[in-house]
Amino acid sequence: MQPASTSHVNAYVWMMRASELLHPRPEGLYCPPGDFFIDPIRPVDRALVTHGHSDHARSGHGAVLATKETLDIMRLRYGDPFAGSTQAAALGESIDLDGVKVTFHPAGHVLGSAQIAVEHGGLRIVASGDYKRQADATCIAFEPVPCDVFITEATFGLPVFRHPPDREETERLLRSVAQFPQRAHVVGAYALGKAQRVIRLLRDCGYEKPIYIHGALETLSAYYQSQGIDLGELRPATVDKADRNDFAGAIVVGPPTAFADRWARRFPDPISCFASGWMRIRQRAKQGGVELPLILSDHADWDELTDTIRETGAGEVWVTHGREEALVRWCELNGIAARPLHLVGYEDEGD
Ligand SMILES: [Zn+2]
Repeated sequence: MQPASTSHVNAYVWMMRASELLHPRPEGLYCPPGDFFIDPIRPVDRALVTHGHSDHARSGHGAVLATKETLDIMRLRYGDPFAGSTQAAALGESIDLDGVKVTFHPAGHVLGSAQIAVEHGGLRIVASGDYKRQADATCIAFEPVPCDVFITEATFGLPVFRHPPDREETERLLRSVAQFPQRAHVVGAYALGKAQRVIRLLRDCGYEKPIYIHGALETLSAYYQSQGIDLGELRPATVDKADRNDFAGAIVVGPPTAFADRWARRFPDPISCFASGWMRIRQRAKQGGVELPLILSDHADWDELTDTIRETGAGEVWVTHGREEALVRWCELNGIAARPLHLVGYEDEGD
């Protein structure tokens, strides 16, 4: 038998060391020396939470460490108390957890979203949570963090996924509004992040009229406004028979779930729109009865995923959820060790 080459052995030792610092457990990614989980899907004693989407931020943990905005969002969604105790992590602040250094860095996904850098014994692993690289006026831009191991999502981890510029998509919506002044444009957008981003994009593209929002978006939109993100005038999208025609020519934003209960049909001759990265797939838009698909994603597309991996300089990449295979293959072809973590329970609430 051939002896294993030195570099092969080194790579193996390296991988073992990294997986001793963080590895998947049924509850989520676990750090044994720091005794904490990142984005656990089940209640645990100590959770570090990357962002407020419900698949990452769950209630019932003993202690939660997250950015102040993420803690606020969890409080708004779950009520108080949603955990035994909470601690706010400022971006860039080093926090010691039983000898493990953790630091939160912006992820550009939704308000308050962060990547979490975990450092121990000269090794740095960055768990990026969900992230994107397109500019978004509703949250702080992603910041690449140099690391040894980069943990990435792969929601849109196929070369077919290339998100168009968000302004182009917004202009398409505005052109349709101008073209059909008697009809209501009813836009499906997730309640945390996507809805506020769509509204802000409309403002940035010059749309100044009131925007009507479904009740499910009120609390979070008000929270965004309280954090200095100007969304302009928002009005409740409550339809009485008497004022149905007030919505002619209006833009109404609601969560995708509202479309299932025929909510959108209350508006005059509605044009059904949906803001999602999945709208790249025509079939998906058609099946959902979406007349005006808007390709607006809060996740990295293929180019953003691969560019980000390069920028971190990581020698190894772990892929958490999404379409892992193509991204793992791309890493291998580019001389970067990679493996899927097969984490379950993350359902892209935000896209
Ligand atoms: Zn998310």
